[in-house]
Amino acid sequence: MERAELVFVPTPAVGHLVSTIEFAFRLLDQSHRFSVTILVMKSPFGVTGDQSLPAASHPHIKLIYLPNVDPPTERVSAEKYLTDYIENYKGHVRDTIFTRVLPNTSQVAGMVIDMFCTTMIDIGNELKVPSFLFFTSGAAYLGLLMYLPKRADVLFDESDCESIIPSYIQPVPTSALPAFAFNKGGYMSFVNHARRFRETKGIIINSSVELESHAVSSLFDGDEDEQSKSQPHVYTIGPLIDIKGKYQIQFNQTKVDGIMKWLDDQSPKSVVFLCFGSSGSFDENQLKEIAIGLEQSGQRFLWSVRQRPTTGRLGIPGEYTSYDEFLPQDFSKRTKDIGMLCGWAPQAEVLGHKAIGGFVSHCGWNSILESLWFGVPIVTWPIYAEQQINAFQMARDMGLGVELRVVYNKDGDFVTADEIEKALRRLMEGDNEIRKRVQEMSRKCRNAVDDGGSSSASFRSLIQAMLANLNST
Ligand code: UDP
Repeated sequence: MERAELVFVPTPAVGHLVSTIEFAFRLLDQSHRFSVTILVMKSPFGVTGDQSLPAASHPHIKLIYLPNVDPPTERVSAEKYLTDYIENYKGHVRDTIFTRVLPNTSQVAGMVIDMFCTTMIDIGNELKVPSFLFFTSGAAYLGLLMYLPKRADVLFDESDCESIIPSYIQPVPTSALPAFAFNKGGYMSFVNHARRFRETKGIIINSSVELESHAVSSLFDGDEDEQSKSQPHVYTIGPLIDIKGKYQIQFNQTKVDGIMKWLDDQSPKSVVFLCFGSSGSFDENQLKEIAIGLEQSGQRFLWSVRQRPTTGRLGIPGEYTSYDEFLPQDFSKRTKDIGMLCGWAPQAEVLGHKAIGGFVSHCGWNSILESLWFGVPIVTWPIYAEQQINAFQMARDMGLGVELRVVYNKDGDFVTADEIEKALRRLMEGDNEIRKRVQEMSRKCRNAVDDGGSSSASFRSLIQAMLANLNST
């Protein structure tokens, strides 16, 4: 039987591409009725490794690289900037579907779009095919976005202490809200996206009901208006983890072998791993402070350190050629038996190694899922995007992480060596309550995606919904 085409339009950022590609692979594993075309935009934030996307090696996934577009001239908020940038791609997406996808398929089954790509729903409508949202963060964060249209254009107030947001169990402190909550351009971009989420046929979330039961059940609570009658179905199909590291942007096998060999020589659960996502980087004062905190804590460590790009914190960091420029004097000598520094690390593989006992993370959603999957408790160190609210969710709302106290001052945010030492001791010493809860959640997450689990059932209904459209045409 000929396969029907699903057209994916992901946001060109690592955290979005990792899980989107994993989702495409799993979808094709589970159904022989589809093939996938992924339309790849150039990242506006620097190299994302687009050219190394591994999907081309799958016989039923085709990648089409779209031509470049001009970036927006204004950059008042990262969210608005990204939204406007993707809007500029709309013509290319439409033309590419008409000239390169439609002539090569008997049927398009639907569009699978990212949270920043809601403008592409118009193209789905023109093609008379349904659009599905593949949401690359958690259900609680989706709940925050869905709550915005109810507030209309009322931004959050920085002078408030906290806000009630239905998808979080506890009131959310103002300091945990993402920057766009206080920025008209960013805020309104998400109000508009969230309104359009409701036009989709289904919202696919990389999470499970076991992990985010409160958030999932809150999503359409209290929707008694006309709109709610046609609300999209929610599919929690996660956690989908790219365990084998299919998507590695700066892959160097010799370095990876060196890291894994070092871990092999350490005792079980003795090492804390520090890694801050695809874009996390610090200035040299903060790096020095981390080094002091690590040494004071006396813990074994694997520290992924990447160099801040000259374009500032939003660019993709590079690799250091030497760490000596920021490390305290003789740090390497003193810690040579207990620590290792590296650049880009094979994070999922590292978290799965028996030597890892804790993770200091920036709290990107993929990193959270990977740590839970392997039952590794985290210290939360959020840096940008929705990481602050993810950190709050993990540490305070769900009791699954140790919170780090970040001091905010006019030069940005800073964490002291003493605070790092304290958090690492709390995380690593003994079989504490957090570790037990994380291990229990790990078991639940794995069960959810196993046969008979809630996410696996949800994945099956998603496939049925995608097929239903085919059968009816
Ligand atoms: N990652 C990695 N090595 C690194 C940094 C990141 O393999 O040194 C992977 C990580 O495992 C995760 C993804 O890159 O799958 C980052 O996604 P996440 O949502 O955690 O954060 P983002 O990069 O979007 O901030």
